[in-house]
Amino acid sequence: MSRSSKQARREIACPRCWVALQQEEVDVRGPNIIIDVCPSCGGIWLDSGELNRLLRDRKLSSYLTKHIGTQSKSQLVCPGCGWLMDIETAEEVDVDVCLNCGGVWLDAGELEKLKEISSEGFEGDERVKAEERWEELMQRERESALAGLLRRLARR
Ligand SMILES: [Zn+2]
Ligand SMILES: [Zn+2]
Repeated sequence: MSRSSKQARREIACPRCWVALQQEEVDVRGPNIIIDVCPSCGGIWLDSGELNRLLRDRKLSSYLTKHIGTQSKSQLVCPGCGWLMDIETAEEVDVDVCLNCGGVWLDAGELEKLKEISSEGFEGDERVKAEERWEELMQRERESALAGLLRRLARR
C-alpha cells in the first residue's frame, strides 16, 4: 500500500485500549512502510504483508498469517476491518491475526521476540497447521454446498 493511500484512510484505534494509533515510518529494504503504534500500550498494528517486510523471514511470517483456519480464538476485534481475529503461535509468542484482512496485532515486545525466533531459524509446527488447513477446507466445502443449494433453489 502506498504511503498516500494509507494516510488517507480513517484513523484506527488500539484493539486493547481504544486510543488512536500513531503512524510510524519504518525504514525497510524497498519502499518504507508505515506501521501503527499504540501510544498507550506499545502494541503494533501491521497490515497484511508488513510483518514479512519487517522480519524479512517469509517462513515465519507465512506461518503466522497463512492458513490460519476459520475459528476465532482471539478476544480482539481487528482494528483494520472490524472482523474476528485468531491467535497464532510461533514458539511461545501468541500474535493476533485477522481472519479477514490478514493484518497482524503485536503486543508490546512481541516483535522483538519474533525477531529472536527468526534469528534462531524458525521451523513451524506442521501438525498445528494441518488442523487449520483442514478447517479451511471444511469451510470451503460448506460454502460450495451452500452455493449449490442456492443454485438449485434459484432454478425452481
Ligand atoms: Zn493500546
Ligand atoms: Zn482485519
